[in-house]
Order: sequence, then structure tokens, then C-alpha cells
Amino acid sequence: VSVIPENSLLPAVCGRVCPQETQCQAPCTLGKALKDTDKAVAIGRVERYVADLQRESGKQGVPEVKPATGKKVAVIGSGPASITVAADIRREGHDVTMFEAFHKPGGVLIYGIPEFRLPKTIVQNEIDNLINMGVRLETNFVVGRTRKLNDLIEKDGFNAVFVGTGAGLPKFMNIPGENLVGVFSANEYLTRANLMKAYDTEHAHTPLYNSKKVAVLGGGNVAMDAARMALRLGAAEVHLVYRRTEKEMPARVEEVGHAREEGVIFHMLQNAVRILGDANDCVTQLECLRYELGEPDASGRRSPVPIAGSEFLMEIDTVIVAIGNGSNPLISQTTAGLQVNRWGNIIVDENGKSSIDGIYAGGDIVLGAATVILAMGEGRRAAASINARLAGL
Ligand code: FAD
Repeated sequence: VSVIPENSLLPAVCGRVCPQETQCQAPCTLGKALKDTDKAVAIGRVERYVADLQRESGKQGVPEVKPATGKKVAVIGSGPASITVAADIRREGHDVTMFEAFHKPGGVLIYGIPEFRLPKTIVQNEIDNLINMGVRLETNFVVGRTRKLNDLIEKDGFNAVFVGTGAGLPKFMNIPGENLVGVFSANEYLTRANLMKAYDTEHAHTPLYNSKKVAVLGGGNVAMDAARMALRLGAAEVHLVYRRTEKEMPARVEEVGHAREEGVIFHMLQNAVRILGDANDCVTQLECLRYELGEPDASGRRSPVPIAGSEFLMEIDTVIVAIGNGSNPLISQTTAGLQVNRWGNIIVDENGKSSIDGIYAGGDIVLGAATVILAMGEGRRAAASINARLAGL
């Protein structure tokens, strides 16, 4: 309980969602000695167990905060990168305000990853810790719309700003039929289900489509979450369509296993080429093409090569597109001089510092859609650099 937070601020979260089999267990000496990562110390499980034990014991306590310095930092977004930054900066006695666009803080941990994988009380507990440390939280506050980023520095007196706005812009397949009724991005689908409680069909303001036969396009953790959510929302059949094989799937092995156990039907080496609808523009069928694996591409994975003439139709009423997310362009579009790369990710140096003095960034808005632990690591580095800047002011 006391050692783990030196490296991981959110052990109850990481113990549940991180790819521990590669990040923690692969370098474990026990696993190496026994030549099997499954026999390594189950560090993720340990993390989860001790963090849960401590939280449930009610003895968590509030981290110590140094005396007030009078310096102010704005943290934009409230996902794992921002939570880490807020905690590390507040500990040094600086005033921290977190601005979140949604009505609930937590980022993807709240709106994306479903309850069955990460109970929301755990995320709320982390937010409560920040509040107890004295971090101020402003929800329903879209930086770039409610207030420009520059105004936070020039008019509101913040000495530094951290941008942790994530990668919330869904990518689409750009195939015919993607605007039919019954086609969702995984982001919309999961946000409606998790954050807007669409599963509560009697009370939800944004109830979900009553899907019976669902096709999920993609092979990452997001695709697995969407597929498993669709089953829980009452779909009779959920088909996961992925253009490579299971070996190349970016999702965690554990998540793939859970999806399969729950009855998700896997269609490997296939890809959607067209979505068909009825006279009311509602989805009725998905046209797919079969693939085979060719030479490795830039990602090192064997690239999928379409088999000409192998098209076939699948009877479905819903399509969930889960092929990745890009960065939200709002802040870069409304902040003159903030440099981004060609994917719209904010460019920072090794200390998380952007092209504008006093503005730092980290997490998915810098890395592109990545992982919780990487977002936290980026947050830690940026917080150290902000703390060093403030110490010198
Ligand atoms: P986010 O968590 O995206 O948080 C960004 C926050 O900024 C959001 O709350 C957003 O509303 C807010 N925001 C955006 N723009 C503004 C603005 N202009 N003003 C104010 N606020 C703004 N990773 C894993 O390690 N393991 C997993 O199993 C896993 N599963 C995933 C499942 C899903 C469905 C998704 C979508 C992602 C998953 N990931 C997983 C990835 C992981 O969740 C992200 O890498 C991580 O959350 C990124 O953290 P972040 O702090 O950079 O941003």
C-alpha cells in the first residue's frame, strides 16, 4: 500500500485495466526463471488487492499537502493524466483547478471503460481524494469554448496549464452506409451506456437503440468493451469483425478471453466494406470482404490483404465502429501558436512542455489513443516539470 503509489497513483485502476502481462509480468525475474509469464508474480492482482483492501478499510487518509504557495495551475481534462498531474502539483502546496467538459470527472475511466471492468466507485474515490486534498473541480467547462486556454493564463492568473484532453474523436471506416440509423462510434455507444446510463431504459434521457444483432468493427480493448456492453444491453448476437487474426489483435488477451466466454462471435480476417439499410434508413446488413495475411507493415504486424471477390452479407441491425480515436482538435484550433503533429497530437518536449511557455500536455492528447499507465507516466513527468517551473517563479 505504501510502496506501490511511488510508481502508480491509481493502483485500483491499474490493477484492473493495465496490460500487466506485458508491462509488469514480462520483466519479472520469477517468470523469466520459470520461462512463463503466467508464473511471474501477479503484480497487477497484488496491486488491485492491496488497493481495494485499503479503500474498503476506510483508512486511506488524505495525502499530505505542503503550505500554500499562492501559485495557480489549471488542469484541463480529468482522465488519468490529469488526475496524476493534479495530485502531484497540489501536494507541493500549489492551487489546482481541474476543468472538465463532461458533467462527471474521470475521463475514459468514467465514460469509456464499462462498470463491469472498472467499478465507477473506484474512480470516484480517486476524484474524492483530489477534492479532499483541496483540488477545485469545474465540470461542464469546455476549454476552448467556455473559456479560451490563453485567457486562463492572461486573464485568470494561472501560472501554468496542463492539457490532458485525451483522444476522444472517433475514427470511422469511411464506407458507404456509415450514416444510417443504427451505426455508432464505440465512443458514443459506450458514453451513452456508461455516463448517460442508457441501460436504464425507463429513465435514461438518451436511451440506446434496441439492438438484436450487432456487428462491432475492430480488435482493441474498445471493441471488446463495446461488444460486451452490447450483450449486456440485450443483443441476441454480437459479431466482432477484425481484418487480421486474433494474434495481431491489440486488445489484452484477458479481454479477448472474456468476450469469447460471454458469447461474442469472432470473425477474423474479415472487414466491412458497406452497410446496407431499409427504406427508413435503418441498418439491415453488413457487407464484408475476406482477407489473408501478407507481409509485416510499419507496425510490425502482418498486413491484411483483401481476397478479391470474397464479399458476403451479414444480417445485422447495429454497427459499432471501434477502429480507434484521434485527438480532439478544439484546443489546438483555439490556441494560437500551439504546435501539433499531423495527427493533431500536441507536440511536447521530454518534460511535457509544449511550444507555448507555461503550457504543458500529456496523455492521449500527446501520444494518440494509448493506455492508462502511459497517460499517468506522462502526467507525472509534466507535473515534475511544472513544479520545478513554479519553484523558480
Ligand atoms: P482521457 O481519459 O481521455 O480524459 C480526457 C478528459 O478530458 C475527458 O474527460 C474529456 O471529457 C476531457 N476534455 C476533452 N476536451 C476538453 C476540453 N476542451 N475542456 C475540458 N475538458 C476536456 N487503457 C488501458 O490501459 N487499459 C484498458 O483496458 C483500456 N481500455 C479502454 C477502453 C475504452 C473504451 C477506451 C476509450 C480507452 C481504453 N483505454 C485503456 C485507453 C485509456 O483509457 C486512455 O489511454 C486514457 O484514459 C488516456 O488518459 P488521458 O488522461 O490522456 O485522457
